[in-house]
Amino acid sequence: MSHAFSFIIEKEIDGQRARTGVFHTPHGPVPTPAFMPVGTRGSVKAVLPHNVKEAGATMILANTLHLALRPGPKVVRELGGLHKLMDWSGPILTDSGGYQVFSMADVSKIKEKGVTFRSVIDGSPMHLSPESAMEIQLDLGADVIMAFDQCPSDPHDRKQVEEATARTHRWLDRCVKRWMELDGLDRGHALFGIVQGGCFDDLRRQSVEAITSHDLVGYAIGGISVGEGREAIREAFAMTTPLLPKEKPRYLMGIGTPVDFFDAVAQGADLFDCVTPTRHGRNHQAFTSRGRVNLRNQAWTTYTGPLDPDCPCPACMNYPAGAIRHLCNVGEMLGGTLLSIHNLTFFHRLMADIRLAVTAGTLSKLRAQVLPRVEPRFKPTSTCA
Ligand SMILES: [Zn+2]
Repeated sequence: MSHAFSFIIEKEIDGQRARTGVFHTPHGPVPTPAFMPVGTRGSVKAVLPHNVKEAGATMILANTLHLALRPGPKVVRELGGLHKLMDWSGPILTDSGGYQVFSMADVSKIKEKGVTFRSVIDGSPMHLSPESAMEIQLDLGADVIMAFDQCPSDPHDRKQVEEATARTHRWLDRCVKRWMELDGLDRGHALFGIVQGGCFDDLRRQSVEAITSHDLVGYAIGGISVGEGREAIREAFAMTTPLLPKEKPRYLMGIGTPVDFFDAVAQGADLFDCVTPTRHGRNHQAFTSRGRVNLRNQAWTTYTGPLDPDCPCPACMNYPAGAIRHLCNVGEMLGGTLLSIHNLTFFHRLMADIRLAVTAGTLSKLRAQVLPRVEPRFKPTSTCA
């Protein structure tokens, strides 16, 4: 474990897996469980960094593949690294590019040495390997970098999952070797390993064993947000989490709705990321304390009250919901910006409530109070709050 990073568990209750803690990084502490907004190409879409911070974010994520294509890792490095590029002084995590590469790659182009695919920019052939994924991420300069793994496209196809999981383990050996050569311990960039294994208990178990045989700063659970139903995700995660070392942060990749958070925190997850709050925001949709809102609905046209009367964000404090609907309707960028800020605020406030509830031992109670209110659809029946 690198000395530049530490994970302190603050509260766990006997007989329960949920815990709160603080993940300390060279760019500051992250109270956990924590949600990380996604800044795919070096920007949390349509939201200024200070608004991301005011919404409650402590750590954000950027996507290696997108930044490797444009502007390129060397350019990011020249510009002072991701923290400068994103104007973000807090911790940043980069994915390895594996997830995106596999969604683009012809399966036959996945070889032991790496993956060949065509650039979405100009169609030119590109290659990503465990070694180059480490080199690119270290050029980008994130605090936490992710191992290059193979994410099977069908987590129920045993043969495919077996191959991808075994390859992920061999690739982790190469990632660790290259990371140690270039960065190693105490230089400020932590490597997280990724557990695969699809929906198969025995393969997940084997994967945990292989991945945790490397003493890394943290571990992620991958391959469970690629099309399975919620039950399959819950089962895979519930089975895998308790096997991971208790004293290390556990990152559940690509998860991001209120019900997912409650499920995952209850199983002992500490970190999450998802594009949900910003993507929904750009699509005129909001998570609110009264339920899910679609501002395309005409019922909001002359609504004078705030989008969410329980929210302190600039969108809810300063605008009638009908005005935000108007901005969205006419394609003004500000509409998507306001809704993204609101959704980020909603997610981070929910996560803060979850941390308090874990500390108090009242997570189930909070779940029973919150989910029936926030998950159903909501539209107003009068024109004011
Ligand atoms: Zn709001």
